[in-house]
Order: sequence, then structure tokens, then C-alpha cells
Amino acid sequence: MKGKVAIITGGAAGIGLATAKLFLEEGATVAICDIRKECIDAALLELTTMGTARGFVVDISQPEQDQTMVDALVKEFGRIDVLINNAGITSDAQFYKMTFEQFDRVAKVNLYGTYCMTHAVVPVMMNQNYGKIVNLSSVSAYNGNFGQSNYAATKAAIIGMTRVLGKELGKYGITVNAIAPGSILTDMYKAVPEEVKQQKLKKIPLRRYGDPREAAQLLTFLASDESSYITSQIITIDGGFN
Ligand code: NAD
Repeated sequence: MKGKVAIITGGAAGIGLATAKLFLEEGATVAICDIRKECIDAALLELTTMGTARGFVVDISQPEQDQTMVDALVKEFGRIDVLINNAGITSDAQFYKMTFEQFDRVAKVNLYGTYCMTHAVVPVMMNQNYGKIVNLSSVSAYNGNFGQSNYAATKAAIIGMTRVLGKELGKYGITVNAIAPGSILTDMYKAVPEEVKQQKLKKIPLRRYGDPREAAQLLTFLASDESSYITSQIITIDGGFN
């Protein structure tokens, strides 16, 4: 990852922050964006001691904010090699109770946000004839987790988008893959009710939850040239759950 310039969305916490740290350890320049300014500031305190790191307050579902971040990075560093479309939210409810607002908000961040940031970055990668894009899907897309019709729909859509983009962008030297995590211990997963978590644990062959750093290791592989002949793929990381 030495010398590579990487964007990590939702990089102020959880899997995104763990990935930012690992990228910096590997010698990359890292730009995180997030909607929570205080978390960006706290993250940058540590990240900037590890290497070159920048932080942007960006709501990924707002195309003009994504474009502003991309323009600023191209101006400063001249290129963008890696995009990790990591930012995502849940807003669970059984389908008959799920409001339009709940469905809409999750779709806007998880699906439209991934579209918007990717759309801003792809022309830069096409120009440089190089790029590595990794999207965050979820085993919920295959498994249909109870109460997650909105979330599972967006994560399944990301699988479809990943497969198409890999085909469209291959000739420009751009690989596009996705990871589908199971239960990774972050703030997002801590919100899951304890009873559900205990039931799930019994179904995970490795009998434990994943650590954000384990997801970061897979993302680093897919963002590096070690994965140069892999594109359009979805790789599950779930301790054998699915
Ligand atoms: P997290 O909630 O710990 O972190 C997500 C970060 O994204 C937060 O810092 C949040 O502020 C930021 N964010 C939310 N909305 C945003 C927006 N509109 N624009 C920019 N940033 C925004 O979540 P996590 O567990 O680290 O999840 C990261 C990704 O992995 C998500 O896409 C999630 O769906 C996926 N995932 C997580 C798990 C898990 O078990 N944790 C499982 C499967 C998939």
C-alpha cells in the first residue's frame, strides 16, 4: 500500500477506522470521511501520528459533498488509488412496522451513498488507469436477517452493483470487489439485542464475533496489488456463519 492514496468512507469508527489504521501501517495516505465531526477529530489525533491522514465531514449521500472531498484530494495528492465504500447504517424494524423514512434513510446512505462517492471517484481512477474499489455488503444480503428488509435490500443491491462495475471498469485497470461481513464487534453490532447476539453466537462455527481488524485485513488485501487478478467478487468474512 506504500504511496497509495485511499478514501475510506465512515472512517471515524468501527471497520472504517480499523482499516484506516492498517492502511497507514502499510504506508498508504489515508483520507477518511464521516458525518460525525467529533469522531473524525478524535480519529485524526491517532491517525496523524501513524502517517499522512486527512479527515472530511461528508454525508456520502450528498453528491456535492463527495465531489468536494474528491477534488480536494486530487488537488493535494494528484490521484486516488483506493476507495473503500464503508459507511453504512441500520434502522431495523419488522417490515409491517417499517416506516418509509426508515427505508429511505438506509437506502440513501448505504446504496445512494455508495453510488455517489463511487461516481465522484471513478473518473479520477479511469484517468490514471488504476484503481481499487471495495464495497461493504453484508451476510444479511444472503441470509435475510430478521428486521432488516431495508438494510438487506441495500446490501444485496451493492452486490449487484459490484458485479456490474467490475465488468465495466476492468479495461481501465480498476478492480471492484465487495466484502460481506457477518458479525463484527463495532458500535453497529453492539446495537443488536443481547438475546439475538447469544442465539447468533451458537451458529458461528468459530464461536466468536469478528474483530474490526480482521475485516480490515481482508479490505487491505482487496485494496492492495496482492489481489490484482480479483474483480467483481464478493468475499464473505463471518467465522463460517453463512
Ligand atoms: P459503525 O456504525 O461502527 O461505523 C460506521 C461509520 O459510518 C460511523 O462512524 C458513522 O458515523 C459513519 N456514517 C454513517 N452514515 C454516514 C454518512 N451518511 N456519510 C458518512 N459517514 C457515515 O459501523 P461498522 O460496523 O464499522 O460498519 C461498517 C460497514 O460494514 C457498514 O457498511 C456496515 O453495513 C458493514 N457491515 C458491518 C457489520 C458488523 O457486524 N459490524 C456486518 C456486516 C456489514
